[in-house]
Amino acid sequence: QQQRVPLIAGNWKMNQNHQEAVVLVQKLSWVLQDKKHDYERVEVTVVPPFTDLRSVQTIVDGDRMRITYGAQDVSVHDAGAYTGEISASMLAKLGCSYVVVGHSERREYHGEDDALVAAKALKAIDAGMTPIVCVGEGLDIRNEGTHVAHCTQQVEGSLAGLSPDQVAEAVIAYEPVWAIGTGEVATPEDAQEVCEAIRAQVAKTWSSQAAERVRILYGGSVKAANAAAIMAQPDVDGALVGGASLQAEEFAAICRFY
Ligand code: PEP
Repeated sequence: QQQRVPLIAGNWKMNQNHQEAVVLVQKLSWVLQDKKHDYERVEVTVVPPFTDLRSVQTIVDGDRMRITYGAQDVSVHDAGAYTGEISASMLAKLGCSYVVVGHSERREYHGEDDALVAAKALKAIDAGMTPIVCVGEGLDIRNEGTHVAHCTQQVEGSLAGLSPDQVAEAVIAYEPVWAIGTGEVATPEDAQEVCEAIRAQVAKTWSSQAAERVRILYGGSVKAANAAAIMAQPDVDGALVGGASLQAEEFAAICRFY
């Protein structure tokens, strides 16, 4: 696990206008500096709405911050008559390092399926960015006890067409839908069970080297109080944080879990 640098990613969802984004990123950077955060040890990225990216870029570049940033979605199309869409090259041009694809809210409210998610992941990679590919089961599947198979199948489908090297460089986020925004966090053992199975699936479908290198995050009601126990699991390489990423102090405390 030493070789996999943990990643803490803050998904702001549809919150913060571009002025609020400037304040939040500045504050986060200050608090992390105050906590003597070691960016070599734990990478920190923020994932604001599209409309904030230019402001975040200006602040991050201008103040030479070590925080990276990414987008919450990307189009499968390169350019043209796709009103409302944002292309991968536009995001790369804005300095995005990451693109979240297949978040459960997009799967649920926008009907995104694994094939579309895989196509988006490839667009992000082709433009030089790292996809954060989200998978996770709903409560019905958890109650049925088929959550491990469900998530490994989602990984197969949502990374279809990626080479072993591309999978190695990608990030997978295991986010049980019943734990997102509910305050109901999975136990560290729950998180480990699925993250371990995902890594085994990557070894089987792609390669053992890809499985060793791919970072697998847990997401779902992560807070400062539960971050360390989740991060201590051998197959958990970071966290995708929603609600708590909007509070600089709380998010910084999650980043400083070690
Ligand atoms: C998310 O949106 O990816 C998420 C995990 O949200 P929360 O931390 O609020 O549960």
